[in-house]
Amino acid sequence: MVEKIKTQIEFLVALQDLDIMLKEIAEVKELGFEVNAEGAATLTRARAELVQNIKKQLLTNYERLRGRYKRAIVPVKEDTCLGCFMRVPTSITAQGRTDMEVLSCENCGRILYWLS
Ligand SMILES: [Zn+2]
Repeated sequence: MVEKIKTQIEFLVALQDLDIMLKEIAEVKELGFEVNAEGAATLTRARAELVQNIKKQLLTNYERLRGRYKRAIVPVKEDTCLGCFMRVPTSITAQGRTDMEVLSCENCGRILYWLS
């Protein structure tokens, strides 16, 4: 089960990467530069495939956070959420490593993953 969660988080992190890349492409386009249309299409396709692996509830949460933050998913290091730099309660820190749940920062709501 733990492995399964890890997978969900891994999918989410990969999704975030793709979304950031797609956003960069859109920004370059807005500035009037040529973009590699084929590359952009491949990214979009990869995103569509990835999304199928992510639980609907997590995806909804991610999409909502993405409207609010540039990065919806952030790492935790030294018990600190690297999105808002607030300390993550020890209870969550202990949970985050073992629990089946994908956890969010209590302060900013971003989805958390632990750097091992
Ligand atoms: Zn936070």
